[in-house]
Amino acid sequence: MIQIDDAGSGSLIGGTGIGILDTRNNKYYFEIIPLEYYQTELFYQKAYQDYVVDIIKRGFKKINVTKDREIEVCQGYMFDKLRDWLSKNDYNWKSTKIEGPLQHKVEESFNQYVINLGLPKAFIKHARYAFGFHRLLKWVFADLDNRQKLCKTQWKSWQKWGHIEKSIYKNTLTYQDYCLKCGKKIDINLDVITIEYITNKPATINLHKSCYKGQLNQVPPIFLHDLCLMIKVRKKIITKLNPKSNQNLYLKTKENKVNILDNRGEILGSLNNKLGEKLAFWLNKGFNWHCILKDFSDNNFLVLAQIKNL
Ligand SMILES: [Zn+2]
Repeated sequence: MIQIDDAGSGSLIGGTGIGILDTRNNKYYFEIIPLEYYQTELFYQKAYQDYVVDIIKRGFKKINVTKDREIEVCQGYMFDKLRDWLSKNDYNWKSTKIEGPLQHKVEESFNQYVINLGLPKAFIKHARYAFGFHRLLKWVFADLDNRQKLCKTQWKSWQKWGHIEKSIYKNTLTYQDYCLKCGKKIDINLDVITIEYITNKPATINLHKSCYKGQLNQVPPIFLHDLCLMIKVRKKIITKLNPKSNQNLYLKTKENKVNILDNRGEILGSLNNKLGEKLAFWLNKGFNWHCILKDFSDNNFLVLAQIKNL
């Protein structure tokens, strides 16, 4: 049996790997569809499907595949043109789900290829969804100038997320992390550059100060621009509040805790969770939020906060 499979067609990083295995003698051929096919108008022409045919021609020659052999081709769209070519050339082939040794081999070859491109080994080896788009995007954003050259930039998802606004600022790390630029550990209390942005959810990247060379954009990240804050207040205070009055409230920090005050300066509640920490950081830098009391029930109430001075 001759088997044909691909790997990496869904990886933001790198081209796509194509592998051929002769199960009779274990001869294996692997080649990459170059990134160019994902970075130029070639992508819209689906020219990578033609390139697959070229790879298979070279591979068949190399491992001596003759026309009497049975061929199994993976079912994906990657092989649409190959299937036509196999039929036209009277090969004995069928589409099927490829499992077993070839699947493993092609994945291994592709992993090795992206490791050679610079993706840290640990990034792939210990993660089930190693090639998830948003995970790889973080790695790319850690060194955008150099790493966007390794991306499938004609992808819609890259066009959508590849150049989104980021908050980039000096920070002191309160937890341990790994630098996505150099791959080394960042210790607690170290000065770092933090990059924050929001795609389908907020994301944070921390880099050693010396690992970041680009510009800073020292503004609160977009996910802090408009906030809905839910806090609990004491019964005694609630009776004094009128949810219909749209009264202005104020955020004020005290020891890294954010208090919410009414216009008489009375503390209505506080935020001491992660969000509170983040807000405190930016409040201490002089940024302010315009807050209004929106609604409450029992002793919960809702504050809408919108950033003022951007
Ligand atoms: Zn670093």
